[in-house]
Amino acid sequence: MEIIIADNSGLCYGVKRALQLAHSTRRRRKGRVLTLGELIHNPMAIADLKKKGIQAVRDPVSIREGTVIIRSHGVAPAVYRTLKKKRIEIVDATCPIVKKIQRLVEGLAKRHEEIIIVGNREHPEIRGLVGYSDGRGRIIEDEDQARRLPPRKKRFVLAQSTQDPYLFGRVVAALLERTGELGVYNTICRSTQTRQRSTSELAARVDTLFIVGGKNSSNTHKLYQISKRVQPNTHFIEGASQITPRLLRGAKRIGISGGASTPPEAIEEAVAKIRSSFEHQPHRESIIQWQS
Ligand code: SF4
Repeated sequence: MEIIIADNSGLCYGVKRALQLAHSTRRRRKGRVLTLGELIHNPMAIADLKKKGIQAVRDPVSIREGTVIIRSHGVAPAVYRTLKKKRIEIVDATCPIVKKIQRLVEGLAKRHEEIIIVGNREHPEIRGLVGYSDGRGRIIEDEDQARRLPPRKKRFVLAQSTQDPYLFGRVVAALLERTGELGVYNTICRSTQTRQRSTSELAARVDTLFIVGGKNSSNTHKLYQISKRVQPNTHFIEGASQITPRLLRGAKRIGISGGASTPPEAIEEAVAKIRSSFEHQPHRESIIQWQS
């Protein structure tokens, strides 16, 4: 039996940075420390933050006091205005890569361009980006929606930072049929692309693959879909306890990958669970970090 961990699986730069900012803010501030929405899409990490006195709130309007941490996904300008009006202290942990996409949307909106944003309309990053578009941003989730758009002489398209590049490519192709001049910005972040590529390459080399992460994490879902396309024996698990003997039956090469919000401990626990499941069977074990 061999366990192979995908390169770049687990916490991305933006989420790590947001967590560090949250912890340092908690150390510095005496009053309430809140995050606007869950800082990380992972139930284990959220429980840990709560234990340390960092609580998630949904609605900026409901906040009366304390320090608010804006998570890596960013927020719309209206949210900053609401908090500033209430004189709430803001710690902005928006990922610098997301900030760059926000500025891009803002710039296109100032030029009165039509902006197509390829992403999940319920995702906080997308809600934030739309807020910068001054009413010119249109969310498209797949190529069918793109085909239903009216023809235009000119428009621009960009993607959620964690978008699946194949889906983005299909939407761009559909838009080309309906647009004279199409400006394409590949705003899928490098860390997402590396993780998706190494997971898909790993999926081709193993007989069983576990994607570890919160079910509410959009990028972990995409990782699961990408891997499932290559290796049908891919399982999406939230934690090691979901790795059962049935899922491991006949497995010889087992791959593990995790989304941008999967803490390293969750990957380590999955490795330990697989290892213990093979404890009483003759096996050869090697754990290598896959470098694609
Ligand atoms: S996935 Fe990329 S853009 Fe999104 S928070 Fe992580 S590093 Fe930033």
